[in-house]
Amino acid sequence: MKPRSQAVKEAPEKEFDIAIIGGGIVGAGLAQDAASRGLSVILLEKRDFASGTSSKTTKLIHGGLRYLEQLHFGLTRQLLHERALLEKLAPHMVRDFSFVLPILKQKRFFGFKAELGLTLYDLLAMDVIKDHRHTRLSQREILESAPGLSREQIVGGLRFHDCITDDSRLVMEVVKSACAMGATAINYAEVTGFHVENGELVAIKCHDCYAGGDMEIRAKTFINAAGIWSDKLMQMLDPAWQPRCSPAKGIHIMVPQSSFETNSALFLPTLDGRYVFVVPWQRAVMIGTTDTGYAGDLDNPLANVDEVDYLISVVNTYSGSRKITRDDVIASWAGLRPLVGTPPSESGQATGSVSREHLIYVGPYKIVGLLGGKLTNYRIMADEVLNKLFAEHPDLAARATQSRTAKTMLGGFSDKPDFLTSTAHIAARARKLSIEPATLDHLIASYGKDADKVLSIVEDEPELAARVCPDFPPIMAEIPFCIVNESAMLLEDLLFRRMRMGLVHQGQCLDAVPRVANLVRSCLGWDEARTKVEIENTQSIINEHIAASHTFQKRELQKH
Ligand SMILES: Cc1cc2nc3c(=O)[nH]c(=O)nc-3n(C[C@H](O)[C@H](O)[C@H](O)COP(=O)(O)OP(=O)(O)OC[C@H]3O[C@@H](n4cnc5c(N)ncnc54)[C@H](O)[C@@H]3O)c2cc1C
Repeated sequence: MKPRSQAVKEAPEKEFDIAIIGGGIVGAGLAQDAASRGLSVILLEKRDFASGTSSKTTKLIHGGLRYLEQLHFGLTRQLLHERALLEKLAPHMVRDFSFVLPILKQKRFFGFKAELGLTLYDLLAMDVIKDHRHTRLSQREILESAPGLSREQIVGGLRFHDCITDDSRLVMEVVKSACAMGATAINYAEVTGFHVENGELVAIKCHDCYAGGDMEIRAKTFINAAGIWSDKLMQMLDPAWQPRCSPAKGIHIMVPQSSFETNSALFLPTLDGRYVFVVPWQRAVMIGTTDTGYAGDLDNPLANVDEVDYLISVVNTYSGSRKITRDDVIASWAGLRPLVGTPPSESGQATGSVSREHLIYVGPYKIVGLLGGKLTNYRIMADEVLNKLFAEHPDLAARATQSRTAKTMLGGFSDKPDFLTSTAHIAARARKLSIEPATLDHLIASYGKDADKVLSIVEDEPELAARVCPDFPPIMAEIPFCIVNESAMLLEDLLFRRMRMGLVHQGQCLDAVPRVANLVRSCLGWDEARTKVEIENTQSIINEHIAASHTFQKRELQKH
């Protein structure tokens, strides 16, 4: 990836084939696909890559078992096929995981329905996933998989398989893959307007939110991949544009592994007819999610205390004598699904039954847009959007070669043998440097082949092998790596998206801010005043999360 400053300098001098607005998974997937077809492409993101919905998901690469209830067989089949492909393309970060669906004593009948659903799930994946069919579990087997469950309440259950990933790292890997194939990607580049000349859209106006200043980016075609902000962009072009996105909020909480003991991920049917996931992630336990209409500030959704209590109560319906309380919550966050529909006038109504299918549309001046969709099927969505764009611009279609994304591994690996030899080499080198196994696993899962570059930093400066937060594997050496290789510009980028501490343990993350800032300062050349502002901004973002959900750190902080 080019350094951001170089990309900002060069971009206004070119005319691109395609300009993509929005650096979430949809925009990243589009940039990768277009670049793989030999087209020149620029990706513009107003904040950081994946700073919108794509960093706040449940982190599942899955078929969406729940969608079978809505009879979305086609969508589930597509997602299952993509899951199988992504396991091959990104084995370092899309990992198979065992999920358990426990059956409550008073919901025995639900077991039959669930088994029917899982049989269908297996059938839909039959041609791509040979092993890992679902199995029935006895009460003893369920409790072995998840000792935190209640012996009194659970009568048995089912085991099935899906994959877990790290969403913002996946976006970053796709952006890097796009750049390796020639794309330009710039974060902190907000599209603020459009330049129409002789009735044709010829450029977008951009504000550099990091360094200041404005620029114009010329392109032959334009794609709106701005997720929940899509309608705002279309209204810049056409004030009469009718909104098509209906944001639906979903929150997650994190608790320490000691608060709820489980070796498997859990898929918990709720008493109000929904499902909640309990997923071991980043050495803690993630619980989510909710699904309600949202009419608030799109830029800063936060979990509120009622939503936190709801998730706690669902898990406590299933848990044994150790019940979770608000004091166990070490982090919370909220994301907004870009569902297709009319925006709600107020927040709060249930949106679980709204379709998760995506919508591709052609707007004014042939700008093509996409709404909805999943992290899991980003490649398919990119292909469909580009086909729509090509239908509108046959000259572009004539120059495009075939997409290579189905054959391009992420993480910088060229093929499976390269994956195996590179990871073995990285593991051997890490052992020599006395890197802990948990950190080694984290580095490979996060950076793929580039984990080797992080190790080079440790070799040069061994003190950077220190952990960022005491209880979690990320290390300080990742900071200079992400600044140089992944356009991390702010402390928030590092703490919330390149590493995930801002989502995993907000108390420890808060403590880490000054230390991280000290290192960033020397990498980015911030002076004292700038460093102070950046520290305060980041602390206030973390404190906002803590205050909104009334989790334990807020009370801890008040004591100091
Ligand atoms: C709670 C929750 C859980 C989910 N769980 C899963 C899951 O487990 N698995 C799964 O497959 N899917 C999941 N999803 C769905 C999936 O995450 C989303 O559908 C997907 O991330 C949407 O990606 P996107 O690129 O469209 O949007 P975003 O990630 O929001 O990207 C849009 C980007 O556009 C940028 N932007 C906006 N305006 C401008 C502008 N003017 N100029 C430049 N840039 C701009 C934004 O900053 C943003 O980064 C979940 C969603 C939620 C909310």
